[in-house]
Amino acid sequence: MPRTIQLGLLLITILSLESIAQKRVAFTIDDVPTPSTSPVEISNRFLSKIDSMGIPATIFINEERVRVDKHQKTLEAWLKHPLITPGNHTFNHPRYSITPFDQFIQEVKDGERLTRPLAEKYNKELKHFRFPFNDLGKDSAQHILIENALHELNYQISPFTVESSDWMFNALYTRHIKKGELEKAKAIGEQYVNATMDYFDHFEELSQEMFNRDIAQIYLCHDNLLNLHYAPEIITQLKARGYEIISMDEALEDEVYALPTFYYKKYGVSWFYRWMQDSDLIDQYMRAEPDLSDAYKAYENRN
Ligand SMILES: [Zn+2]
Repeated sequence: MPRTIQLGLLLITILSLESIAQKRVAFTIDDVPTPSTSPVEISNRFLSKIDSMGIPATIFINEERVRVDKHQKTLEAWLKHPLITPGNHTFNHPRYSITPFDQFIQEVKDGERLTRPLAEKYNKELKHFRFPFNDLGKDSAQHILIENALHELNYQISPFTVESSDWMFNALYTRHIKKGELEKAKAIGEQYVNATMDYFDHFEELSQEMFNRDIAQIYLCHDNLLNLHYAPEIITQLKARGYEIISMDEALEDEVYALPTFYYKKYGVSWFYRWMQDSDLIDQYMRAEPDLSDAYKAYENRN
């Protein structure tokens, strides 16, 4: 092969590697530590998994879950870890659209009682706030009221772009585990990983169509048994696709997160839909999302 062609091929390889490496995603975990109905050990083990994967993660804490010593130790272990950034997720996880305003503000303040001093102890800033259910209010008046109030409390509203109903898969997964149905549990775990990758396909396509590039994605999942067992596989597959796992702060530097949002409903939809002005377009893209109807049916019919 002539030397110029060899050089050309080498250049193409380097360029395509560069374009692959441009994909970035921040990993965020809600409802930390794990629900009071699950053993707190799940949360401890999930933190160890994050540690062994060596990826940064932002956690959204509900302090209602941290009433006893054991849980406080778990919370502190998360906050102490150098790869973990703390976020407030309210005290008791209320739905903002149906909560009186003053009560919701109290929820925000109660949600940082332990977290703020611990964050200071470990030299971390507490500035991220994620709404429970990503419910930012039922209309524009409610949205604007809370946005201003959170701004005054020095909080930044945390967006997300990709989520794959891990809470629903987790309910099916833990039920099979409890019944000793390990093969069925494994099938659910694999379904969850595949669904997550399909959601990444969907939102990568949207990213290209709306912005002509791969924006920094933000993945939302929960502190649960399913992610303890399957988050490593998701991270492995994302890395194989060329994703770099970045922190929430790095993701928020992407200029898309400074764009205005136009979505004034209570539903917890991806920020991609909030950036769209045309509600028909939102419907069209939502209909193109991966089909999870079989898993939802199984979830609704579980006993
Ligand atoms: Zn939550």
